[in-house]
Amino acid sequence: MRIFITGGAGYVGSHCARLLRESGHELCIYDNLSAGHRGAVEASELVVGDLADVKKLHQTMSDFGPEAVMHFAASTAVGESVKEPLLYYRNNVVNTVNLLEVMKSLEVKKLVFSSTCATYGVPPKMPITEDMPTHPLSPYGRTKLIMEQVYADCSRAWGLGFAALRYFNASGASFDVTIGEDHKPETHLIPIVLQVALGQREQVEIFGDDYPTPDGTCIRDYIHVEDLADAHQRALLTLTPGKQIIVNLGTGSGHSVKEVIDVTEKVTGKKINVKMGPRREGDTPSLYADPTNGQKVLGWQAKVTNLEDIIQTAWEWHREHPNGFAE
Ligand code: UDP
Repeated sequence: MRIFITGGAGYVGSHCARLLRESGHELCIYDNLSAGHRGAVEASELVVGDLADVKKLHQTMSDFGPEAVMHFAASTAVGESVKEPLLYYRNNVVNTVNLLEVMKSLEVKKLVFSSTCATYGVPPKMPITEDMPTHPLSPYGRTKLIMEQVYADCSRAWGLGFAALRYFNASGASFDVTIGEDHKPETHLIPIVLQVALGQREQVEIFGDDYPTPDGTCIRDYIHVEDLADAHQRALLTLTPGKQIIVNLGTGSGHSVKEVIDVTEKVTGKKINVKMGPRREGDTPSLYADPTNGQKVLGWQAKVTNLEDIIQTAWEWHREHPNGFAE
């Protein structure tokens, strides 16, 4: 298949692109490199461009002639979205509408979309199933939910087929340690804890230990990035025009912030200095997936289910690439 990938030089996008390339698909990666890295992709596949530049987007897509689009390009930090909501509405909503307009004009009717468990807000119970109410707590979560609704409208109006993949916490690095997580600035828990293990940071601050969870810290479902890539490939092969798929991508197990720190100490053999801090705005106490729908709809389930194995792959990447892609 010929696949157009927005944000394919980013963390999850680059792992998906690699799997698709290895499976023999032809790729065009459209990325403005605001968060992505040249070193994460094949130079011959990369077009440096912005979704706001509709002329370039249209030209690139019509030259390439894709059969499907995978859309990763987005602003993704929950905390930042609370402070800069308009940036999120522009990048994640307006620019995605640009993409849809070009897809419609070129009659591309298959879209795999990076959605998020942040669409749920505070779910009524755990684990989370896809039919639970969606009341996002942050502008970030709202932008992703809005786009899912826009896709459903386009599906009815002109036959768009879409898969909204609601990721839980993407983590880990490629098994061959060639690509991994590199955000600047880094805000995610596992890479921050690993930076402490590497001596690049003095300590990790725990954002709140007064949550209604067994150890008082937030619980998340950490899902390996190679498992996410596998789910994207399956979604692509399952999609047909007009089809609507919404699937949670998680392991089904939740781990607290303190557990992540303890397991990282075990994996790295290093002492992790910890500082207790206040809660972070927009955080939900506990989020973990019911992954049964992914099995039913995509024939998918996470292969890396052990937190220690997930952190081990991340540790190998950070140890071998202490400055990330270092561009
Ligand atoms: N977290 C933390 N300290 C940090 C970064 C994150 O305590 O320096 C907590 C955060 O409050 C959340 C969990 O770790 O409960 C995972 O946060 P992350 O930003 O990695 O992912 P998110 O759940 O926001 O997508």
